[in-house]
Amino acid sequence: MQSSLNVEKIRNDFPIFKNNPDLIFLDNASTTQKPQKVIDTISHYYENYNSNIHRGIYTIAEKATTAFEETRDKTATFIGANDKESIVFTRGTTESINLVANSLGHNLKPGDEVLITEMEHHSNIVPWQLICEKTGASLKYIPIYKDGKMDLSNPYKYFTEKTKIVSVIHQSNVFGTVNPIEDFVNLAHEVDALIVVDGAQSAPHHSVNVSELGCDFFAFSGHKMLGPTGVGVLYARPGLLEGMNPFMGGGEMIQNVTMKKSTWNDIPWKFEAGTPNIAQVIGLGAAIDYLNEIGMETIAEYEKELLNYGQDRLQKISGLTIYGKAEEKGAVISFNLENIHPHDIAHILDNSGIAIRAGHHCAQPIMRCLNIPATNRASFYIYNTFSEIDSLIEGLINTIDLFS
Ligand code: PMP
Repeated sequence: MQSSLNVEKIRNDFPIFKNNPDLIFLDNASTTQKPQKVIDTISHYYENYNSNIHRGIYTIAEKATTAFEETRDKTATFIGANDKESIVFTRGTTESINLVANSLGHNLKPGDEVLITEMEHHSNIVPWQLICEKTGASLKYIPIYKDGKMDLSNPYKYFTEKTKIVSVIHQSNVFGTVNPIEDFVNLAHEVDALIVVDGAQSAPHHSVNVSELGCDFFAFSGHKMLGPTGVGVLYARPGLLEGMNPFMGGGEMIQNVTMKKSTWNDIPWKFEAGTPNIAQVIGLGAAIDYLNEIGMETIAEYEKELLNYGQDRLQKISGLTIYGKAEEKGAVISFNLENIHPHDIAHILDNSGIAIRAGHHCAQPIMRCLNIPATNRASFYIYNTFSEIDSLIEGLINTIDLFS
């Protein structure tokens, strides 16, 4: 099959495929592989200008600070944020959501409601449970259906004057469903609630413009978009961070410290206590450059081709169920084979070098809705090929034979 990307060229940029010629990596919703450019950028920092940022007055420290802050600019542009002060670096989506929950949460009180959905990853459930327990606010859920969609036809059942914070997943890591964020934003703002978007699975795969979406917060992780682990992003709409309490206290987030009291640094540094993951942030900058060189539209288009091809082939396998039937869907396919446990399937595929995920995908409420303990999940990225999908199909057919 002809693809819209030069995948062979792309694959050559990823040393992991040279070092593991038989590897078929189909677990990209979990984490992604790193191009040489990202690895080199990180090594280059450690080998040439390793130093702490925002502190040193010497040359290499200034170079590190510049590289770190340039990534903030790049990140802002990458997601359509109008100013770099809107970008807070965190350890990942999980920390970004915890930051918002804790910094906004102190305003919550009994009678207030936080609204999320049954489609959320645990990292967009547990922080809200914790803050609701602490403040006496209630956590409400918009239900999902077995086809991986939500019903917003009667929204005022969920969006009420009690709703203070809405937090919703952009693209589901289980179903692949791309949710209509603009509708959620409008509904949240209609009831004067703030809205947080979990973009862990959307920002790596299609072009995102937070200014156009109109969301108040947007969270994502570097490692799911070819960058290193240990770096994430929290975008906040201009004007919001100023009014929020710091999440963590420590060095660099202060303006002045006395024995009794402290005052805070300007935003966004007020939210970046201690020495940050400098190499990882700079590495994320290289990942953004790499994605930009290919183009997010091209990436989305290619992933759609992989998704359509994968779904077409998978649904022809007798006894195979695909979960997630949304029209707007990312390149994630969750499925089960009749009478074969997902862990057995993943194990057998691994013998042929095929890496897929099996489990609840940190989304147990979805598993409960589907009335199953786990699914298999194949998730694609720019370096995957149609022939890798053929190998997956072949592996599944062999697995069925083995169990019959
Ligand atoms: N949200 C979604 C939708 C995810 O898929 C993930 C990672 N699987 C997360 C949040 C958490 O991301 P991280 O572990 O990088 O913090």
